[in-house]
Amino acid sequence: MMQTVHAQTKVIAHRGFWKTDGSAQNSIASLLKADSIGCYGSEFDVWLSADGELVVNHDASLHGKKMEKSTAAELNTLKLKNGEQMPTLQQYFDAAKKTDIKLILELKKLKSAQRETEAVQKIVAMVKAFGFDNRMEYISFSKHAVEEFIRLAPKGTPVYYLDGNLNPQQLKAMGCAGPDYQYSVYEKHPEWIKECHALGLKVNVWTVNKPSAMEWCIKHDIDFITTNEPVELQKMISKE
Ligand code: MG
Repeated sequence: MMQTVHAQTKVIAHRGFWKTDGSAQNSIASLLKADSIGCYGSEFDVWLSADGELVVNHDASLHGKKMEKSTAAELNTLKLKNGEQMPTLQQYFDAAKKTDIKLILELKKLKSAQRETEAVQKIVAMVKAFGFDNRMEYISFSKHAVEEFIRLAPKGTPVYYLDGNLNPQQLKAMGCAGPDYQYSVYEKHPEWIKECHALGLKVNVWTVNKPSAMEWCIKHDIDFITTNEPVELQKMISKE
């Protein structure tokens, strides 16, 4: 019997595996739990503090403290929903040494291009010091940050663009590994998936939580699905 061969879709836990006991978005627990359930990667968000330290959090502020206006020491005392302290990137990477999951690092859009360049330089240096070069994938909504990761990270490090407004040819020309776009972008441009593959690009999608959308992405050969429901997605992929 003829069967279409699909490359196995890979699961990325969005802000880690946080919808489970003892976890919280972007916590160290969420990274360890994503690793423990065998996700391909764990995604997390990085800011640059007022004093030039890299810190891990999604929103631009936490408990009223702004990421870019507060020192790392101030931010590091803030409590996440699971009781952990908000981690610095250094603390997050220290925990990651115990795992071998891919680290999907999103650099948030910062106040200036200059600060984004500073953040990228510091991230790339820290990654090198930890020996994580082969575990990193970088993503950003900032085109400048994407260009800086491509320029400064070791050649071949995957860098994906999040903002949905560039076509496969434009991404290829930039040196991107591919798009990492919202699901609705691929619904509008399903042809981009094949175009990417023909160009040697990989296709990522965020944030896919509904079974019907997961199914659609798997059937359309999307390479990586970022989800808040990694266990549900893994079950679906293993049935394919
Ligand atoms: Mg993110």
